[in-house]
Amino acid sequence: MVTKQFKEITAAQLYKKLKNVRIGGTVCHYSLKKCQEYTPLINAINRLKQEKNAVILVHSYVSPEIVYGVADFVGDSYALSKDAMNTTADTIVFVAVKFMGETAKILNPKKQVLMTAPEGGCTLADAITAAQVRRLRKKFPKYTFVCYINTTAEVKAECDVCVTSSNVYEIVANIPNKKIYFLPDKYMGDNLRYEMRHRGIRKDVQFFNGTCYVHEDYTPDQIFQIRTEYPNAKIVSHPECAPEVCANSDFVGSTAQILDYMFKSRSKEFLMLTECGLSSRLQVEVPHKKLVGSCTLCKYMKSNTLEDILRVLKNPARRDIITVKESVRRRALKCVQAMFTYTKKGK
Ligand code: SF4
Repeated sequence: MVTKQFKEITAAQLYKKLKNVRIGGTVCHYSLKKCQEYTPLINAINRLKQEKNAVILVHSYVSPEIVYGVADFVGDSYALSKDAMNTTADTIVFVAVKFMGETAKILNPKKQVLMTAPEGGCTLADAITAAQVRRLRKKFPKYTFVCYINTTAEVKAECDVCVTSSNVYEIVANIPNKKIYFLPDKYMGDNLRYEMRHRGIRKDVQFFNGTCYVHEDYTPDQIFQIRTEYPNAKIVSHPECAPEVCANSDFVGSTAQILDYMFKSRSKEFLMLTECGLSSRLQVEVPHKKLVGSCTLCKYMKSNTLEDILRVLKNPARRDIITVKESVRRRALKCVQAMFTYTKKGK
C-alpha cells in the first residue's frame, strides 16, 4: 500500500528545491514561473497516484521536476528493481526507459506496469537481440552469459545472470565458472576484465560491442584539462565509460555509488562523467558542492514528462502498458533472480 500522505506542493516550495539546478544549457534551469506551470500537474499526479494506489519509480537521470515533484522512489537500476520487487502498490509507473519497466514487469507479473516513454530506447538495450545471444551461446558454449540490466526481456531470457553497474564486479567474482561472456556494453566488459585482473581473480572475460552513446563520448583529455584548471576537483565516472577514462578517474561507480561518494567526500569540487541527472541531484541535495566542466543529457531519459505521467495514470493507452510474454518472462526472471542470489552470496 502506498502510505505516503498526499500534500499539495506550492510553486514556491518547488522553486526552493530546484533553484540551484544549472545543467544542460537552459533545459534544466528553473524559475518561479516555470515552477508555477509545473505545480498543478505535480499535484494532479500525486492526487491520482494515491487514489489509484500507484507507486512512481524514477531513475536519477530523469528531469528534476519529476524526481523532486512526483517520485516515490528515485535511484539506479538495481535500487529501483528492488523497489519494484517489494512494492505493494497495485500499479507501478516507471519513469525511465523501456528495459527498466520490463524488469519491473518480470518481477511483478500480476501488477500493472506503466511507462511514460514506452518507446524510450537505450543504445545499450538496443545493441543486441535474443537471436544474436543464441548465436553467441553456440560460439561460446562453456561460458556463463552475464547480461547488464540494460537489455530487453528477450535478451535476459537467453542469459544466465543479470547484473547492474552497482554489483557487476561482485557478482562476476562470485560466479564459479571462470569463463564469462558479458553483454552488451564493451566498455563495461573491458572494465570488468581489468577489475578482475586487478583483484587477482582469474576470469576469462569476453564481451559484446555495444556502447552507451552518453558515456562513450567522454575522453581522458577532458579529465586532463579539468585537472589543470581545477587541481582539487575529484573526477567521478561510470563504468559505461571507456577504460582509459575510468583509469584516470578518482572514483568509478554506479549512479547510487557516485552520489554516495560525493555526499561523503571532503572535496568541494567534482567533474561528473555521467548523465546530467546526477549533477542536478547533487545541486539540489548538496548545494555547497560545486560541479566543474559539463555533463551530457540522455535524450531517452529526458523524453519523460509530467504531462505523460498524468496521462498514463488517468487513462493509459495500450502502448503505455508493459507486457512480457509469459514464456519469456519466466526465463528472464531466473536471470534476474540469479542477480539477487549472487549479490547475497557476496555478503
Ligand atoms: S544514459 Fe546510456 S545506458 Fe542510460 S538509458 Fe541513456 S542510452 Fe541507455
